[in-house]
Amino acid sequence: FLTGQTGVEARLEAFRSGGDDYLPKPVVNEELLTRVKVRLDRSRMLRDRSDKDTTTGLLLRRAFSEQLSAILAEAQRLKSTFTVCLLDVDHFKKVNDTYGHLAGDKVLAGLGQLLSRRFRVDDLRGRWGGEEFMLAFKRETKATMHLAVQRVLDEFRSITFSGDKGEEFCNSFSGGIAEYPIDGESVFELVKIADARLYQAKKRGRNQIVLDNDIFDEVKSESSEASVGH
Ligand code: GH3
Ligand code: MG
Ligand code: MG
Repeated sequence: FLTGQTGVEARLEAFRSGGDDYLPKPVVNEELLTRVKVRLDRSRMLRDRSDKDTTTGLLLRRAFSEQLSAILAEAQRLKSTFTVCLLDVDHFKKVNDTYGHLAGDKVLAGLGQLLSRRFRVDDLRGRWGGEEFMLAFKRETKATMHLAVQRVLDEFRSITFSGDKGEEFCNSFSGGIAEYPIDGESVFELVKIADARLYQAKKRGRNQIVLDNDIFDEVKSESSEASVGH
């Protein structure tokens, strides 16, 4: 509140109605700017903290989804593409069971760090939940995203982690990629396709990224569509 009323009742009323601050006129410009800046910095810091997962340092699902919706809106407006990739650490349950939960957390932190250091600042990287991660690249095609994620997979596989008793082990992940608009026109559809391809990657032996539909799946769905017609 910036006001000429300086009485205690007016001040109280300003705070009661939700005002963050109260400045009587005449205002000193420098003071007004400083007060606003400090509050902005603090609210940005709080938002940043609540948007990020503490283990991996990446965006949490809610914040990621919000930013992904913005990417979709931009792609619709500019008639451009974007890609999403769903990643899932391979045999992660076994990592926890064999090397301990703490070692499992170190694997998640390691992958989180790798994902945040590679790629461009513009690229979205989030923890989708558990040992699943989600990426979104603006104005990209599946082929280029595939190359970039494959490079990260190669690097991740070369990291040696240590178990709770000092044992050494390595890990891999699987991924599924989908591209707007050819694979889907909504966030929901794209995530569904990426998830189906991730499942394919697991089925094909893990440690790989899938960007197309399984040819056998297509044949299967075509023949089931045909049989529905009869
Ligand atoms: P797949 O290769 O098919 O993905 O097998 P998986 O073992 O990775 O998959 P599954 O879904 O069976 O197990 C996932 C495990 O991830 C189970 C759960 O306990 C573990 N997990 C989820 N979140 C965390 C976490 O924050 N820290 C640790 N250490 N483990 C987690
Ligand atoms: Mg999983
Ligand atoms: Mg897994």
